[in-house]
Formats: sequence, structure tokens, C-alpha cells
Amino acid sequence: MNERIIPIADARYNAGTPSVPADPDPATGRLADAHGRMLRDLRISVTDRCNFRCSYCMPPAVFDRNFQFLPHSSLLSFEEIARMARIFAGHGVEKIRITGGEPLLRRNIEALIGMLAEIRGVQDRPLEITLTTNASLLARKAGALAAAGLRRVTVSLDALDDGVFRAMNSADFPVADVLAGIDAAATAGLRSIKINMVVKRGVNDQEIVPMARHFRGTGHIVRFIEFMDVGASNGWRLDDVVPSAEVIARISEHFPLDPVAPQYPGEVAARWRYADGSGEIGVISSVSRPFCSSCNRARLSTEGKLFTCLFATSGHDLRALLRGGYSDQQISGAIAQLWGQRTDRYSEIRSEATSGLRRIEMSYIGG
Ligand code: SF4
Repeated sequence: MNERIIPIADARYNAGTPSVPADPDPATGRLADAHGRMLRDLRISVTDRCNFRCSYCMPPAVFDRNFQFLPHSSLLSFEEIARMARIFAGHGVEKIRITGGEPLLRRNIEALIGMLAEIRGVQDRPLEITLTTNASLLARKAGALAAAGLRRVTVSLDALDDGVFRAMNSADFPVADVLAGIDAAATAGLRSIKINMVVKRGVNDQEIVPMARHFRGTGHIVRFIEFMDVGASNGWRLDDVVPSAEVIARISEHFPLDPVAPQYPGEVAARWRYADGSGEIGVISSVSRPFCSSCNRARLSTEGKLFTCLFATSGHDLRALLRGGYSDQQISGAIAQLWGQRTDRYSEIRSEATSGLRRIEMSYIGG
């Protein structure tokens, strides 16, 4: 272990092996946490690597060439991921989001999509499989992903101006290629494409209206995300946050907006529709309007650790159970126990007191 390893790396290993109930009850498809929030969404990180260095997620000064990424041997195999997804589906998970790092960097990711597309959830319904990507490989992979069973995709794009884009992601990658990836996804039949823009005051907030203007009328939905204090290395300050109310006000000056009701409980983005009918945008307001009260998301790291909140400081090592000879029912029982005890609501309690917490990096557990 060389001296340059950043302390945050240690936090990745901070996960105990969960206890397994002696006589686990079979899953019922309905699993509530301590606040009555039903488990519905599972985010699965398939790699901790990325070819971008977005300042709010993988700051280049921290994730530099000396950063020790996880060895391939420690990653869950596709078979292990599919097994976990089946167990979570038994508890009522309806939606799986594939994340990273950058998930399209994981070789043969289409094969995993195909395996997940075969899984049936409650009432024998297929799971909704979606994926979040920086689109650097999307133009090349969109067709294969759609053929494998991917139905939806979310693309991270923080600016249209190349200079601003590079300032945000420290990657020498042109916006035009991200836009080409979005077009390829649409051509491949991936529907309701979402564009995630993390807004940081003084860095890319001048791009809010240009992004709205560019995607208005395309059917693609831009979601403006408040800069969050995820992880322990992005130098977050409240002053750098542009509250969603201000984002809405700026866009409304040019294109009047009307609020729209959520499609389902726990929907992350608040929806707004252009008054002239030319489409929708969304805002994700973890700082100014926390939505923990309806949070139904669990996260699985690329090594098989369960995290019950994006701002968690520790997790639960499910891989140890997977590779420890435990049955699906036993692992299912352990998950039921963990979720049942869940009380997370970080965004509601965010304060000076929480600023020093050593939170898990978003690039490790997926956004
Ligand atoms: S802060 Fe945690 S509990 Fe709250 S919405 Fe985000 S992930 Fe859910």
C-alpha cells in the first residue's frame, strides 16, 4: 500500500458481514423500512472506474494516476449481480439502475443487461432496466444495449459549451460526441432519455438556459441537479449550490413552466412542463427540498456491499454471503433485516454537524 492512497479509500472497506436470520421468512414482495418506505429501486454499480473526472464526483486531484481502483477479482461477476437482482426483485424491487463509475467501461456489459432483462419481479412483471452513463461510449454501444433489453438511459451532461464541459469533467471529450451518443440511443429505440446536469454556481450555471433551450422540443428531459456533498472529496460548499427554485426562475424567464405531479411515489426529480407543450424538465433538490420521506432506493457497490443511502458512511457486505455458501432465502432474509432497520434521511438532517462525516464516494456506490 503506497503512501499516496487517499484516506477515503479506507471507507470502501468499512462494511460488516450482515447477520443471517436463523429461519428467514420468504420474501413477500413488500418490504418496508423503519419509516415505512417500501423498497422499490436498486442501483447497481458495476465498476468504480471512469474515463471522466467530474469535479463533484471524482475530483482529479484525488482520483489521480496513483489512485488504487478495485481489482477485477473483487468485483461481483455478472452471475452474482443477476442473482442479487433476483433476490431484491423478490422483495419488491421493480427498477434496476446500472451505474458506476462509468458502467459502459465494464466489458461486455450488454450480457449483464440481457441477464437482468430475463428477471421477473412481483406479479411476474419484468424489471425496468435503466443505466446512467457519461455517453463517451454510447454511440458505439446503444444498439447492442437496446437489443439486450435496455429500455431507458440517463446521460450525464453538465454543459453545451466545450470549455465549460471540460472544466467540469477534466476529460478531453467533446460535447458533440455526447450529443451523438444521445442521438444513437434515440435511434436504437431507448425511450424517455434523461439528461442529468449537475449545476455548480460560478462554474456552469450560465449553461442552465442554453441546456433547456437545446433539449426543449426533443422529447428528452433535462434534470437539473443541485450540487451535493456526496463522498468526502469534492470540496462541497453551500455557496456553490444553485437552489432548484432559482433554476426554475431562470428558465421561466425564457420558457414559462408549470409544475407536474410525480409519476410514482419516491420519484427523485420534481417535474415541470413547458407551458407551450414543448416538453418537460426536472429538478433534483437534495439540498433545498430533501425527498428522503419517500426514498425507496438501495445501492449495491461493485463489490457487493449494500448501502441504504447515497450519503452512507458504511455498508453491509452481501458478497461475503454470496460467496459464503448462503442460500438465496438466507441472503433474502439478511436483506429484509437490514432494510427493515433502515432509518436513513441524510438530506433532511444535513447540517454543520454532518459536514465532517466520512461518506462513501458516489463513484463507488453509484449516483
Ligand atoms: S439522502 Fe439518503 S435517504 Fe435521503 S433521499 Fe438521498 S439516498 Fe434517500
